[in-house]
Amino acid sequence: MRFIDTHCHINCDPLRLEVSAVVSRARDAGVGYMLAVGSDLATSAEAVELAHAYEGEGVYAAVGVHPHESKTVADGIPEDLTKLARDPRVVAVGETGLDYYYDHSPRDVQQKVFRHHAQWALETGKPLVIHVRDAMEDALKLLGEFPVAEMSLVFHCYAGGLQYLNAMKDLGAYLSIGGPVTWPKNQELREVASCVPENRLFCETDSPWLTPKPHRGKTNEPAYVRFVYEEIAKSRNISVGDLTKIIDANAARLFGWRPLCA
Ligand SMILES: [Zn+2]
Ligand SMILES: [Zn+2]
Repeated sequence: MRFIDTHCHINCDPLRLEVSAVVSRARDAGVGYMLAVGSDLATSAEAVELAHAYEGEGVYAAVGVHPHESKTVADGIPEDLTKLARDPRVVAVGETGLDYYYDHSPRDVQQKVFRHHAQWALETGKPLVIHVRDAMEDALKLLGEFPVAEMSLVFHCYAGGLQYLNAMKDLGAYLSIGGPVTWPKNQELREVASCVPENRLFCETDSPWLTPKPHRGKTNEPAYVRFVYEEIAKSRNISVGDLTKIIDANAARLFGWRPLCA
């Protein structure tokens, strides 16, 4: 086992419908850990369930409410969700954040719910998994209200470009890079991948979405994280083997699980 998928949705359709096959294909492809990420109460509960059912296969969970769904929890994080976060298989809070591209929830509600998640992460001491699309300025402003030095932040499927790399360094944030790094047009993301500090880098699929080359057009799944590793290793001019060691050390440090290559 060498690879880690730090952000996937095997708890969501369509992966959920054949999850045991998905997990076993991931294992066959050398994926040692998968972080199943919740986007509302139901998918968070499902993530925790999978983390128990596939404990031996290295599945862990993150629980939270996606900015798209934030309008459903505008009054505060439901107690059922905070209860879930106390499960030992839950290693992070999220995904949360701001998405001004789709605007599925009003922006002020997204901000309020993002704040609630940040406070929750601060109180539990768990890393905060952040989704930002077309909203980096507001995300940075909002995080500035919190003692970020005491927190661990993961910008999943980082899409802030080179422009925000210094801000990310100042936050000490982890940047998780996904399938878009393999897409021909995405030269800037390959440059980003080459500049992220070694101790702040993650690879993810965000499956079932954002399928990497050469499988574009198909449903994404954790087994494909290898293609993300290969592209990032190429961008950094290192071997895939060296990259797996880097990601392994970062994930073990942040999520508290045993390193794959101890
Ligand atoms: Zn996301
Ligand atoms: Zn996601």
